[in-house]
Amino acid sequence: MPLNFDFSEEQELFRRTVREFAKKEIAPKIGEYAHKGEFPWELYRKMGKAGLLGLRFPKEYGGQEADAVTMGILVEEVARAGWQIPLGDIMGEILALHGPEHLKGEWLPAMTKGERLLGIANTEPSTGSDAAAITTRAIRRGGNYILNGENGFHYVMETFDLMRALIAIWCVGMAEGALDENIEYVKQRTAFGRPIAKYESVQSRIVEGCTTLEAARLLCYRTLWLKDKGEKITKHSAMTKWYAPQLCFGIVNDCLQNRGAIGFTTECLDEYRLREIRGAMIGDGTTDINKIVVARELLGREFLPYR
Ligand SMILES: Cc1cc2nc3c(=O)[nH]c(=O)nc-3n(C[C@H](O)[C@H](O)[C@H](O)COP(=O)(O)OP(=O)(O)OC[C@H]3O[C@@H](n4cnc5c(N)ncnc54)[C@H](O)[C@@H]3O)c2cc1C
Repeated sequence: MPLNFDFSEEQELFRRTVREFAKKEIAPKIGEYAHKGEFPWELYRKMGKAGLLGLRFPKEYGGQEADAVTMGILVEEVARAGWQIPLGDIMGEILALHGPEHLKGEWLPAMTKGERLLGIANTEPSTGSDAAAITTRAIRRGGNYILNGENGFHYVMETFDLMRALIAIWCVGMAEGALDENIEYVKQRTAFGRPIAKYESVQSRIVEGCTTLEAARLLCYRTLWLKDKGEKITKHSAMTKWYAPQLCFGIVNDCLQNRGAIGFTTECLDEYRLREIRGAMIGDGTTDINKIVVARELLGREFLPYR
C-alpha cells in the first residue's frame, strides 16, 4: 500500500492504553501541581510502574527499544492530559547511546522506574542559540573526566533532531487538550440566551484550531516515521519545531479567548498551557534558529547568515 496514515495495531493499542492512563492519573492532578510549581514525583513514579518511562532505552536497562512514532504517541497523549515528562527520556537516550557502562547501569533502570530524572546543560550565561560556542571543556585525567565547561556536544546535537520533533508533538498534544475542553465548554456556556457555540467567531476559532493542528500533527508524525525509516530528519524536525509551538500557542490563546475571563485564571489549564508552549518556542533552538536550520538544508550552508 503506497500511503497509509494508520498506526500499527501495537501502536494503536499503546495509544489507547496511554490515553486511559493519562485521563485517570494525570488529568485530575496536573492542574494542582502546575499551579503549585511542584514536580509531580508521584505521577512520575506511577508512569514508571505502568512501563511508560525509558521507552526507547535498551531492554537490558529496563527499556523497550520503542520506535520514534511510539515515543511520539506517548508524548502526545501525556500532553493531551496536560503534562510533558517523557521528554526527559531523550536525555537518557544520549547516555544509552554514548555513556559508559557503569553510568548506564546506575541511571537508566532508575529512570525507567521514575526514581531519577536526567537533565541536559548546554546553555551557558553568554551562549544559548550559538550552541557550538560553549566554553565548557571535558579533560581526561586517568580514568575520569574533569568537566570544565564543555559537554559531549556532538552527541547532544545528534539527539536534537528527535527532541525537536517530540517537543513539537508535545505542543500539539497540549493544544489538543485545550481544544477538547473548549468544545465542551462552549456548548454549555451561554450568552445572550444561547450557547456561545452558536456564534460564528467562537466556532471559527475552534475550526481553525482543529484544522491547522491536524496539519501540524501530520508533519510531526511524518518526521518521526522518517526517523524510524533511518532517514536524516534534520530539516523536517526543524520544520516541526518552528511551526508547531508557534501554531499551538495561537490555538491555546484562541481557546482562552473562547472562555473569556475564566480562561485567564487558574481555574482552567489554558494559562498554564500557554506558558508551557511559550517556553517551547525558545528551548532546544528558538523559532528563528530552527528556521535557519531549515533554510540551511534547503539553500545550502553557504547561505547561513552567520558565516
Ligand atoms: C522552557 C525552556 C527550557 C530550556 N531547557 C534547557 C535545558 O534543558 N538545557 C539547556 O541547556 N538549556 C535549556 N534552555 C535554554 C535554551 O536552550 C536557550 O534559551 C536557547 O537556546 C536560546 O538561547 P538564549 O536564551 O541565550 O537566547 P539568545 O541566543 O541570546 O537569543 C536571543 C534572541 O536572538 C535570536 N537570535 C540569536 N541568534 C540568531 C540568529 N543567528 N538569527 C536570528 N535570530 C537569532 C534568538 O532567536 C532569540 O530570539 C531552555 C530554555 C527554555 C525557555
